[in-house]
Amino acid sequence: MTFTDQYLAPTFQGLVAGRVFNFNGGPAALPLPVLEEVASELLNWRGTGMSIMENSHRDKKVVAMALETEELLKELLALDSSWKVLFLQGGASLQFAMIPMNFAPDGAPCDYVNTGLWSDKAYKEALICGAGAKVAASSEEAQFTYIPREFDFSPGARYIYLTANNTVRGTQWHTFPAGTKAPLIADMSSEFLSRPVDLSNFTLVHAGAQKNVGPAGLTIVLVRTDFAETGKKGLPHLLDYRTYINSDSMYNTPPVFAIYVASLVFKWIKNTIGGLANMAAINTNKAVKLYDAIDKSGGYYRGTARVDSRSTMNITYRLPSEALEKKFLAEGQKCGLHGLNGHRSVGGIRASIYNAVPDQAVDCLIDFMKDFQAKNA
Ligand SMILES: *Cc1c(COP(=O)(O)O)cnc(C)c1O
Repeated sequence: MTFTDQYLAPTFQGLVAGRVFNFNGGPAALPLPVLEEVASELLNWRGTGMSIMENSHRDKKVVAMALETEELLKELLALDSSWKVLFLQGGASLQFAMIPMNFAPDGAPCDYVNTGLWSDKAYKEALICGAGAKVAASSEEAQFTYIPREFDFSPGARYIYLTANNTVRGTQWHTFPAGTKAPLIADMSSEFLSRPVDLSNFTLVHAGAQKNVGPAGLTIVLVRTDFAETGKKGLPHLLDYRTYINSDSMYNTPPVFAIYVASLVFKWIKNTIGGLANMAAINTNKAVKLYDAIDKSGGYYRGTARVDSRSTMNITYRLPSEALEKKFLAEGQKCGLHGLNGHRSVGGIRASIYNAVPDQAVDCLIDFMKDFQAKNA
C-alpha cells in the first residue's frame, strides 16, 4: 500500500477525531490539549457559572488570569523587571504604526531591515507616520531569499527595526545584529516562543498571537518601561504604550478570551514541553527532517530560502511546475494535510510548522512528499 492509499483507508489512525494536520501560515494550529481544556471549561469558567467570554474584564478572577498570563510569559522568556508585557489589539500591523508614532516622531531617524513583505509594510507605515525611516539593509535584489549581514545603520537612529522570522519567504534571523548603537525592535509574530532569545539588545518586541500563541485579536508587546517613557507625549490614549503599561492592559476592554487561550498555551509550553529550550529542540528536529526530505529529493523539491537563512517555522519550497504544485496541494488536502499553499504573494508550497504542529504531522507530510514524487516525477 502506498502512503496515500494507507492514509485514505478507513482504518488509518493518524488523525485525531477527524482533525486535519494543520500547516496554516496564520491563524494557525493550536496545541490539542489547549483546545480540549478550552472546550472543557467553555460553559463554566473557574466556577463563575459562565464562559470566560461572558465575564467582566473587571472581575477579580479575570484580572488575576491576565496578570498570571503576564507572569507566565515573563518567566518563559526570563524577562527582568525592566520589561512590561502588554496585551493589545490591532494585530502586528498596528505596531507598524505605533512604533514610529511613539519613538520616531517628527522626522526622527530610524532604521529598517527589509527582509520581505512584513518588514516592507512596517517601513512604509513608518513613512506614513512621518518618521525619518531608512532602509539600512535589504535582500530584495535576491527575492528576499536571505537575511542580510551587512548594514548601513544611521548614526542617530532611534531604533533598528527587523522582522525576526519572515513568514512569507521562509527566512529567519539566526543571530541578531550585535553592538549596535540604537536599540533593536523586532516583529517576532511568526516565531514567538519558538526558541529562547537573548533580548538584551532589544527594547521592544511585538507579535500577533495567531501564528504561535493563540487566537487572532491579541497582539503581545514586550517593552522596556524606560524606553516607553521616551515615547511622544500627547498621542491618542490607545496609541500610547504608557496607557497599557499604567493600566496593566485594562484601560479599555482587552481581548479576554484570546488572553485566556494564550495563558493555556504558555502553561503548555512550561509544563508539558518544559520551556523554550525544549521547544526549540523539538522545532529544530521537525525543521531538519523536513529540509532533509527536500534536499534529498534529487531536486524534485527545491527550498526557496538560502540554507544559512532557513526558517524553522515556515518551510517554503517549490515543485518542478505550478501544475504539479496544484496537484500536490489538492492531493495533500485529501490526505488531511491542510494549509500547505504558499502565501498568495509568492505561490509555491509553505509548510508552517509552528510550536503546536506535532512531529507526526511533519512525518506524514514527508511520507506524502515521497509518495507524490514517486508517482509524479
Ligand atoms: C502575520 C504577520 C503579520 C501581520 O499580522 P496581523 O496580526 O494580521 O496584523 C505581521 N508580521 C509578521 C511577521 C507576520 O507573520
